[in-house]
Amino acid sequence: MKTLVINSGSSSIKYQLFDMTDESVLCSGVIERIGEKEGVLNHKIAPDTDKAEKVSVEQPIPDHEVGMNLAIDLICGENGVVKDKSEIDAIGHRIVHGGEKFSKPTLVDENVFKELEKVVPLAPLHNPGHLAGMRVTTDLFPDVPQVVVMDTAYHQTLPEKAYMYALPYELYKEMSIRRYGFHGTSHKFVARETAKVLGKPVEECNIITVHLGNGCSMTATEKGKAVDTSMGITPLEGLVMGTRSGDVDPALHALLGRNKGMSLEEVDTLLNKESGLKGMCGMNDMRDIHAAIEEGNERAEMALAVQTYRTKKYIGSFMAVLGHVDAIVFTAGIGENDAIVRERSVEGLEALGVKIDKELNDCRASEPVKISTEDSAVELWVVPTNEELAIARDTLAVVKS
Ligand code: ADP
Repeated sequence: MKTLVINSGSSSIKYQLFDMTDESVLCSGVIERIGEKEGVLNHKIAPDTDKAEKVSVEQPIPDHEVGMNLAIDLICGENGVVKDKSEIDAIGHRIVHGGEKFSKPTLVDENVFKELEKVVPLAPLHNPGHLAGMRVTTDLFPDVPQVVVMDTAYHQTLPEKAYMYALPYELYKEMSIRRYGFHGTSHKFVARETAKVLGKPVEECNIITVHLGNGCSMTATEKGKAVDTSMGITPLEGLVMGTRSGDVDPALHALLGRNKGMSLEEVDTLLNKESGLKGMCGMNDMRDIHAAIEEGNERAEMALAVQTYRTKKYIGSFMAVLGHVDAIVFTAGIGENDAIVRERSVEGLEALGVKIDKELNDCRASEPVKISTEDSAVELWVVPTNEELAIARDTLAVVKS
């Protein structure tokens, strides 16, 4: 079974073609600068092997249709990894916001398009790009089953007390304003992979997954189901991220408007693109921040301190939510690679039964690694995420059901 996973954004499309018999990646690519003067497509064949090859195409890519056609020519053309379009058995689409309608991966039909259109006001930067990509692939592959896998779906099991904001109830009824949570595909995948290494069914596990990449979020999973998460109605709430502030006092918009004359749009851009690690120290890549700290940069040290302190605070609160915790798990770019961030995110939690083993923690993980001491009541793990593979697995499960 060959499954194509597509992540279609407003001006870019990422794709990976999996051979699901062994879950290997046949090819992957990124189409960028759609709609700009010059577009670019970078295509990789067998990217995870020593036979990897790269092809680049530079030309104007006015819309998603032109971009997708370019990619399909490379995937299925004369030198493609498959010889014909008909060899692709299923297509999975990553969707950032599924609103309240979608609690699981769903086969695409006209109704799915309509429902996702309705969610556009909740995710104006993401969902229009997803819909554009879906339109193109349903036209190009009319006979291939297509599935939408939503970042929000995993968190639809949150109880009301966790997803409701303390706002006038009418706002929920009229505009569906509530916590949705994001990175759900990653949290679900990592929780399940963790259950495997714990040697128990996920339905018997309480797990805190800590996804630290460019975007950062945390989810509490109780007996296999998400019960709380740090991101909210948008992916801005919660942890400190590369360029996003995470939690701030909600009065900030009014305060900046009144005292600095900033518009709502300007404050939104400030919080999403100019804040977080970048706002505090001018850098948003954790590797640069560590290098700067080595050179005595105090603001870089402050940014690291604020980020890891916030992460620890959320770990503590999710331990309270769960009561009993089997494992706390780090994942994504920073979570998988950064021993210092991991150590500082759990330091001082020994009295709560969380003890990190500094030697085991000194690793960059490409497979699950346990990093807690033998006598730690709560196990600590690093478990690599793989959102594309998770989407491919979910897609196949829907198509087979
Ligand atoms: P995205 O949210 O875009 O999927 P990733 O999960 O790929 O992000 O994480 C990207 C981030 O991971 C980078 O911005 C960088 O801060 C961090 N990162 C990547 N490699 C390392 C490393 N070796 N050490 C520390 N941080 C790293």
